Amino acid sequence: MAILGENAAGGIVVENGVIAACMAAGEEPDAPCDEVFDGSEHVVLPGLINTHHHFYQTLTRAYGPALDKELFDWLKTLYPVWAGLTPDYLDVATRLALAELLLSGCTTAADHHYVFPDGLEDAVDIQAAAAQEMGVRVTLTRGAMNLSVDDGGLPPRSVVQKGDAILADSARVIDAFHDPSAGAMIQIALAPCSPFSVTRETMADTAALAADRDVRLHTHLAETKDENTFCVEMFGCRPLDYLEQVGWLNDRVWLAHGIHFSPEEISRLGAAGTGIAHCPGSNMILASGLCPAIDLERAGSPIGIGVDGSASEDASNLIQEARQALQIQRLRYGAGQVSHTDVLRWATSGSAGCLGRDDIGEIAVGKQADLALFKLDEPRFSGAGDPLAALILCGAHRADRVMVGGDWRVLDGEILGTDIEDLMARHHDAARGLTRAAG
Ligand SMILES: [Zn+2]
Repeated sequence: MAILGENAAGGIVVENGVIAACMAAGEEPDAPCDEVFDGSEHVVLPGLINTHHHFYQTLTRAYGPALDKELFDWLKTLYPVWAGLTPDYLDVATRLALAELLLSGCTTAADHHYVFPDGLEDAVDIQAAAAQEMGVRVTLTRGAMNLSVDDGGLPPRSVVQKGDAILADSARVIDAFHDPSAGAMIQIALAPCSPFSVTRETMADTAALAADRDVRLHTHLAETKDENTFCVEMFGCRPLDYLEQVGWLNDRVWLAHGIHFSPEEISRLGAAGTGIAHCPGSNMILASGLCPAIDLERAGSPIGIGVDGSASEDASNLIQEARQALQIQRLRYGAGQVSHTDVLRWATSGSAGCLGRDDIGEIAVGKQADLALFKLDEPRFSGAGDPLAALILCGAHRADRVMVGGDWRVLDGEILGTDIEDLMARHHDAARGLTRAAG
């Protein structure tokens, strides 16, 4: 057995959902165990943690009219389609995304849901119910848009809400779902979408609400050069200055993307402890740029990995995303500056730091028993040397077993309690329904 974590080559004892002991090779548990699993054929990782996603976008993967576009044109093509989201569509999209993530070794996922057309006011409730049933830990971020084209923003009126409605629902979902305790299955964060879709006032009001209720804050920032240009024209400053002005430059915040920062801005982010969800696949597909992840981490920012919405990256596979992080970061920094252990750290404890959690992301005594077990039994791994490096370099894409809080959720590559064929059929119909409605 190869393992990323405390010296646990002899095994891991799990009790009440928590890691009770890590044994060195040759060691035995102090007391007999009720159930024993022989992991000698597996590579064992802490459950992977996804820090940025838009589950609903699984319905618009590889959507023809949005192909081969950069962010702003891609968004303008898709906003009218997403305006047709219904509660049923969101439910099946959430389940499909969680299934895809689980099968890639992910045990905790953050979702950023920011599309609230009429009739979908209970989006967070729908997602919470789906996650609870599937047994995946989630940080559901209550997204928001209230700056439409009429007010100088990017989205159409059909997908924006009023600022007071956003704040009221943000407070409601914190009350209803946020569990601050260790081992929490559901946490809530607040997440106005981006500088080009939210007003300055709502950004500031949301920061105040998050501080008052002690929940985390999330948004997209410095994703594209177009965004920099937008901020200079709309707010008279660069995105990070704007972030600071609205009370967001602190360690309560993690940002999606974080690409177009100057060295001085990287120092400010690191000093503030602001986290970055690095989303390499999306950044490559949309040609957004290369996140300076190594510099940000050295400056003090937690770095996590995010698959981003499945219409830009088109996949929700976290172990593959870690491989993409290695590849893109090597293009920026060279082979000697980033290794498979760096990207595995980002996808586990780094991501946990972004989500403000110290109970997950590591195999260590006292941490939640969230584990991802991979087998190296496919042709792509044949002949591999270092098993942990092989996961990343040979392109692992499917976990054999996944445990969340001491309970198996995936066995032999299959999700327990989920009829995947039925889920895919319903998801396929929902995707066709949504895109057909948009014409
Ligand atoms: Zn995103």
